[in-house]
Amino acid sequence: MSASGKPVLVVGAGVVGLTTGVVLAESGRPVRIRTADRPRDTTSAAAGAMWGPALLRPADRVLRWATRSHAEFTALAEDPESGVHLAAGTMASRAVLGDVVPPEARLIPDLRRCTRDELPTGFADGYRGTVPLIDMPRYLDHLVDRFRAAGGELLLSPVPMLADAVAESSIVVNCTGVGAHLFGDPTVRPVRGQALVVRNPGIDEYFVELTASDEFAAIMPHGDRVVLGGVAVEHDWNATPLRGVGAGIRRRCAEIDPRLADAEEIGELVGLRPGRESVRVEVERYEGARVVHNYGHGGSGVALSWGCAREAAELAVGAGERTAS
Ligand SMILES: Cc1cc2nc3c(=O)[nH]c(=O)nc-3n(C[C@H](O)[C@H](O)[C@H](O)COP(=O)(O)OP(=O)(O)OC[C@H]3O[C@@H](n4cnc5c(N)ncnc54)[C@H](O)[C@@H]3O)c2cc1C
Repeated sequence: MSASGKPVLVVGAGVVGLTTGVVLAESGRPVRIRTADRPRDTTSAAAGAMWGPALLRPADRVLRWATRSHAEFTALAEDPESGVHLAAGTMASRAVLGDVVPPEARLIPDLRRCTRDELPTGFADGYRGTVPLIDMPRYLDHLVDRFRAAGGELLLSPVPMLADAVAESSIVVNCTGVGAHLFGDPTVRPVRGQALVVRNPGIDEYFVELTASDEFAAIMPHGDRVVLGGVAVEHDWNATPLRGVGAGIRRRCAEIDPRLADAEEIGELVGLRPGRESVRVEVERYEGARVVHNYGHGGSGVALSWGCAREAAELAVGAGERTAS
């Protein structure tokens, strides 16, 4: 319970807010989540999604968060109801890669370099390995169920400003994703993504193109559906699907797996990744309240969610204080 006896207030019910809510509620704290959007209408619901190397700052903490999250997702994969499963697949590049892999990649137990004949046409290098894949709509439902089962309260109720949040509770956790831009941090910027969801023509391996380009191929199978990507457009706030983008995604993915050329379309999704110079997990004192920030995860909010949630929860209850940005 917060110092004033009121529930801890978590703002945001994407993967970051819900996971933080679950950690706090399962530790026995009264927790209320307020969210402007239903969980299935958040950026988190539009993610592919896979656990993978994050390549974000601060590097040492990101490695710790990714490690913790990898262990949680690997355990969750034992429960088919969670929406998480382990899948083999390929991460490939059209350019030759160096020999140094990101430190998180060492968590992939069977990671190995692709042989030449394992690479699709046009690709020069890559790795194969087994990682957790997360079917986000189902997984967000799983988190909501867990949160409520632990006594948490989830309200569809936007919080206009940080001042309104601290008027409600003396402990606030800010998990507003790209919404942090209006919630006191103008350095947060959207990195727009769009995904095409199709009926699964029989794919069980993931594929992700390693590139710095804003257009790439990503194939994430989840049972009877496959989520195809991708685009990553900086500073684009447009939250509706753009005409032509889905066709480009399908063409790029069908070059990898021709079965996708005429797979039945189920829908298109858009999400605004919360871009920031570095992920922000720290405490701020605000009008006498303790505000814990947990946002700015860019394209890796799922992959870092458990590590960040556990650290944010510790900070919320006063353990391991961290205040510098
Ligand atoms: C196409 C695509 C593919 C991706 N693939 C991956 C992947 O494979 N792996 C991976 O790790 N990540 C991936 N990502 C990135 C990942 O989706 C994000 O990093 C993550 O969803 C961010 O989660 P979040 O909870 O911080 O934000 P969000 O999901 O955006 O949630 C923010 C929450 O805050 C609420 N909110 C905001 N402002 C307010 C307010 N004032 N009052 C109340 N509530 C408020 C919103 O309503 C929402 O509930 C992908 C993203 C996209 C778009």
